[in-house]
Amino acid sequence: MTDATSQQTRLSRRAAGIGESATLGVSRRAKELAAQGVAIVDLSAGEPDFPSPACAIEAARAALAEGFTRYTAAAGIPELRAALAERYAGAHGSPWRSSDVMVSVGGKGALFELALALFDDGDEVVIPSPYWVTFPEHIRFCGARMVTVDTCVVDGFRIHADAVLAALTPRTRAILLNSPCNPTGGIVAADDLRQIVAAAAQRGIVVLSDETYERFVYDGGPYASVAALAADYPDTVVVISSFSKTYAMTGWRLGYALGPPQIIRAALNIQSHATSNATSFAMKGALAALAGGEEEVVRMVAEFGRRRDLVSAALDAIPGVSCRPPDGAFYVFPNVASCYGPGRQGSVELAEYLLDGARVAVVPGVAFGNDDHIRISFATSREVLREGLGRIAEALGAC
Ligand code: GLU
Repeated sequence: MTDATSQQTRLSRRAAGIGESATLGVSRRAKELAAQGVAIVDLSAGEPDFPSPACAIEAARAALAEGFTRYTAAAGIPELRAALAERYAGAHGSPWRSSDVMVSVGGKGALFELALALFDDGDEVVIPSPYWVTFPEHIRFCGARMVTVDTCVVDGFRIHADAVLAALTPRTRAILLNSPCNPTGGIVAADDLRQIVAAAAQRGIVVLSDETYERFVYDGGPYASVAALAADYPDTVVVISSFSKTYAMTGWRLGYALGPPQIIRAALNIQSHATSNATSFAMKGALAALAGGEEEVVRMVAEFGRRRDLVSAALDAIPGVSCRPPDGAFYVFPNVASCYGPGRQGSVELAEYLLDGARVAVVPGVAFGNDDHIRISFATSREVLREGLGRIAEALGAC
């Protein structure tokens, strides 16, 4: 393409309004530096360092060998949809049948298609803040407006029903929850969740619940899934989740949603034009993971619990840094504002300072809606974490 041509190229209004994912952007930069031979400690993207379950790998391999390499139904293979419906019915008493399940290309795929299926220009979508970096982009992409509800470090960034309900207006189309939350680890208690779902249903507002980190809850903390309320509020409750985190299957790109038939059908129509089915043999692997991966999940979550303690304590001990152990997920979200100063003013500059000066990749908090913090993933080995934390302590020592 010549310079003249590229100058004339006009991007759509939608594309112009969207930037690269901050999490993927930092991890891309970290990988580029590593490829150049720089000894980077990458604590950016949330990606479990554990292998995918052996049974999933074996099942996917067998499916490939047997030639299971053609299109499937856009919604996914029937046995995986049925297994997911059964899993949720068994765990939470949800009424969803296999026809109410959509298997997608990552949880992100389901979230994006649901946003496109539900949000119109001018609609409001209520989300607790700090929030995962992709939520605002999905909302904006659809022409809707994000209305944030602050959560606070003092109570572990819990989501409170009264605060969420106070943000509802006649324009509210949906409430988008993410518990445990990426980046804060904050959770919503069962009582608060019921109040939110009940009030939303009364107003015809949909509750989209991203439960990607459902298995990553520490200290025996209670975990509340919106699936437990679906039988009482069948028209307005949607759960979205993923194989990526639970089963350490990030690269397989498999997520899913369960919800009211009308909403799932609309999202599926979009999926049928966007991606068609998720990868055929990957779905066979996911089916095997659901049936036989539990032991590996339990082992991984126990290890993550130990890392969470190690990382929180080490960060909290750095002068100027305050870090509360998160209730869930696998990130810490320390407040580092006391370390700001010339050359490292704000979370973007501080993250750059750590990358350039200490060769540690972290994600600036501003991408999650709070510029006083940075996000550090502890989904990596204790050895790597110790090295990264040592470098951070040294780099911030002067603050
Ligand atoms: N969700 C993970 C994260 O926040 C993976 C990257 C992404 O999709 O944002 O790091």
